[in-house]
Amino acid sequence: MTKVEEFQALGLTEVTLEAIREKGFETPSPIQKLTIPVLLRNENDIIAQAQTGTGKTAAFGLPILEQIKSGKGLPQALVLVPTRELALQVTEELISLNRKKISIAPIYGGASMSEQLRRIKRGIDIVVGTPGRILDHIRRSTIDFSQLKWLVLDEADEMLDMGFIEDVEEIMAATNQTKRTMLFSATMPQRIAVLSKKYMRDTEILKVESKQITADLTDQIYFEVRECDKFDALTRIIDVESEFYGIVFSRTKVGVDEIVNRLLERGYAAEGLHGDVSQAQREKILRKFKRKAVNILVATDVAARGIDVNNLTHVINYSLPQDTESYVHRIGRTGRAGNQGTAITFISNSEYRQFTALKREVKSEIRKQQLPSAEDVIEIKRNKIKDDLQEIVGGEGLINNYKTMAGEILEQYPPEVAMAALLKLAFKNELEPDTYPEVRSFSVDRKGTARLFIAVGRVDGFTAPKLVEMLKRETGLNDSKIDDVRILDNFSFVTVPFAEAEAVTRQLNKLSHGNQPLAEIAKDGAGNRSGGERSSRGGGRRVAYGSRAGGDRRRSFGGGSGDRKRKR
Ligand code: AMP
Repeated sequence: MTKVEEFQALGLTEVTLEAIREKGFETPSPIQKLTIPVLLRNENDIIAQAQTGTGKTAAFGLPILEQIKSGKGLPQALVLVPTRELALQVTEELISLNRKKISIAPIYGGASMSEQLRRIKRGIDIVVGTPGRILDHIRRSTIDFSQLKWLVLDEADEMLDMGFIEDVEEIMAATNQTKRTMLFSATMPQRIAVLSKKYMRDTEILKVESKQITADLTDQIYFEVRECDKFDALTRIIDVESEFYGIVFSRTKVGVDEIVNRLLERGYAAEGLHGDVSQAQREKILRKFKRKAVNILVATDVAARGIDVNNLTHVINYSLPQDTESYVHRIGRTGRAGNQGTAITFISNSEYRQFTALKREVKSEIRKQQLPSAEDVIEIKRNKIKDDLQEIVGGEGLINNYKTMAGEILEQYPPEVAMAALLKLAFKNELEPDTYPEVRSFSVDRKGTARLFIAVGRVDGFTAPKLVEMLKRETGLNDSKIDDVRILDNFSFVTVPFAEAEAVTRQLNKLSHGNQPLAEIAKDGAGNRSGGERSSRGGGRRVAYGSRAGGDRRRSFGGGSGDRKRKR
């Protein structure tokens, strides 16, 4: 059974712990350690200083989900976020933590009003919304926040920067006065103090103290890669090193297991360590790693604590850690005992903002680099084969057993053909550039990707492979362009190249009927902070949410098995 004691110690109970286990969270992040006990213990309002990417959503989401009672009546919680993109992200994260059949939905600007009204009528327990649109609903009396128990202001400084201050104030004033307010912000400008004085009571201020430590002996570099390309990026890095000996860090246990399995499938010598690995097993793995019987150790932050190996060549941050201090701890595992080591960090689209903050806090340089190309990897492999050959040829007697056979083959084929065929036999397609998947930087174009909302989900019989299959079939996209598929009960998300998003949605919507679109663009591009409702207006049709009511369509998409009827 997966260990989640540290979460339990914060006061969470079994139903919530189950969700945490499934997510593979091993230990609460620093901000979670601060907020969860307070939010479970008393009724005070809180102001929490936390960067994005530090587990903020779970920091307020877990206590709300722990305490909320499923009602599907009036909204019990309202989470205000600055952008549409965040509204979707927060909704996704909350849904993934929900084990109580709580209804959670985003309400944001640009989306179809009628669709939202239908969704509100069906009842939403936790509303995740952008200020402008929420205020629209309040003013039109189409949403009733009189029973609100929790109000979360997420990324409050961003909301203020984007000019939402009056909207936020009006919402704070217009909602149930006995609600509990939680304000999260990366920075604490004076305006936040003013806001809290005016609208919040018995406020507790929670802040993670960051310690400044640097790891000078470590060369720090980063690569921008799409989430789906991280694994190929990792193998390229390992392949170009003559003696890779390193730890690969993943944020979750699930992540560790997945990376190890994929490495083993590809023939690498890897082991994984996380909190569910028994002490005896852990010791065995560490012994193997120390004597280099395996050269790749994949670990969570917790599991890597106390590993004392001095001569690592690499630390790889496959996913970003929860905070800057953990980053420094991770990379400090190279460059020990006077050895220079390399710390490599993969940054995906959604980690970009957290990484920008981290770069600011780490007092040493982190250089951006390009990943080795397929050609680089192949060149290095070729040279290695030549070196190995030389060693074998030089090692007397070793090849005598093969000489007769070599003569027989050479009688049959010209030497070059015979050698080429043997290389193919030994190395399969490892030396062929075409077989290396394209690993693209997500920031080649800052508007690189778009998140699509697809109004079918698990209840319609969809799984990730089925959705991918449907997308490929209906839109002609190939696998490499479909990323980060997320199947939820009633809808799904998928990331596609920005340049193709419009065409893909259009194509998919040919399959739906009437005014209920099947697919819509949920988010602008990577790193594009203009996703707020203000800037999104007039930008064409935007997301209509909660299309669950699309009963007909749902039937026509049953299971994505290819047998649904086309509706035009
Ligand atoms: P957030 O700061 O809420 O955007 O979260 C950033 C990422 O961290 C999300 O992918 C979360 O699922 C993940 N996360 C949140 N809490 C934890 C935790 N305690 N351990 C590992 N990952 C976490």
